[in-house]
Amino acid sequence: MASEFDLIHRYFQRPAASAVLGVGDDCALLPQRVGMLLAVSTDMLVEGRHFLPGADAEKLGAKSLAVNLSDLAAMGADPRWATLALALPAADEAWVAAFARGFFAMAARFGVELIGGDTTRGPLCISITIMGELPPGLALRRDGAQAGDDIWVSGSSGDAALGLAHLAGRVRLEGEQLESCLARLHTPEPRVDLGGRLRGIARSAIDISDGLLADIGHILEQSGVAAELHYDALPRSASIAACADDVLSADCLLAGGDDYELAFTAPPFHRGEIEAIGDDLDLRLTRIGMIVAGEAGRLSLRDSAGKPMPVARTGFDHFA
Ligand code: ADP
Ligand code: MG
Repeated sequence: MASEFDLIHRYFQRPAASAVLGVGDDCALLPQRVGMLLAVSTDMLVEGRHFLPGADAEKLGAKSLAVNLSDLAAMGADPRWATLALALPAADEAWVAAFARGFFAMAARFGVELIGGDTTRGPLCISITIMGELPPGLALRRDGAQAGDDIWVSGSSGDAALGLAHLAGRVRLEGEQLESCLARLHTPEPRVDLGGRLRGIARSAIDISDGLLADIGHILEQSGVAAELHYDALPRSASIAACADDVLSADCLLAGGDDYELAFTAPPFHRGEIEAIGDDLDLRLTRIGMIVAGEAGRLSLRDSAGKPMPVARTGFDHFA
């Protein structure tokens, strides 16, 4: 049986060139870059709550870092360092090796260096603190939206939730659709490049982890504004469009969560630039509505005829 120290040394101690001191001492030591802000965020994944028991360790390693990268993306920060706190039920070397493989593959793609952490025995839980940098004044905060801003969303929402609904037996997906929904659920792609490109363009941003409407709702509340969204304009994947259960697919689209797309607002004079960024990154960017003056947090959804649709943060109000 490997000891805690063997595990750390074997699987998590890697050179961290951009740190003064990385894994192995009482603290990591990081150089401060003059004139830059440090952006810091923590996200925790708990077995049974954020992922199913028995989840693939390599994918979990990548996803646990991806969801943290997504927070940096939503702030417009460039990723730099991460710490990793792991509670493991057993010193299962094969599991740790696979987890580390997934973690470091994701880290390498986005230039993140692991500089410390903690390892203990306990119910499987992964807590990562991520650090990034950004120039002062350019953070994509949740409180910057203004009436008249366009509301945009990257990619499409709902696939991860549809994949989860399949695993829970609520719907039966097959072939290409099953594969793509499970890929969105287990191997989310943080929109780091988009976040960086939106600095100086977007007035506010958030990553969609709790559901499209709920997360746009956070921007509205913190910015003290309201929004009008167009239901028909919401970007839909082939799987959402093809889903025979209309109630389920609408719920996934509006309130699914685990999408890790970015929702952001920007003044209309930036439309051309934003479209060019989407082309550049080969990423669909869709205008789905507008910020309006009104009661902070109020969100209305309109159908193609402009008629209001009954909606709550948790999706359609099926009892309305
Ligand atoms: P301490 O006794 O000070 O808590 P530890 O023995 O927990 O130190 O950790 C020793 C070193 O290994 C520290 O530098 C710590 O940051 C690092 N470390 C521990 N667990 C991990 C991990 N899961 N990933 C990366 N670094 C880790
Ligand atoms: Mg410790």
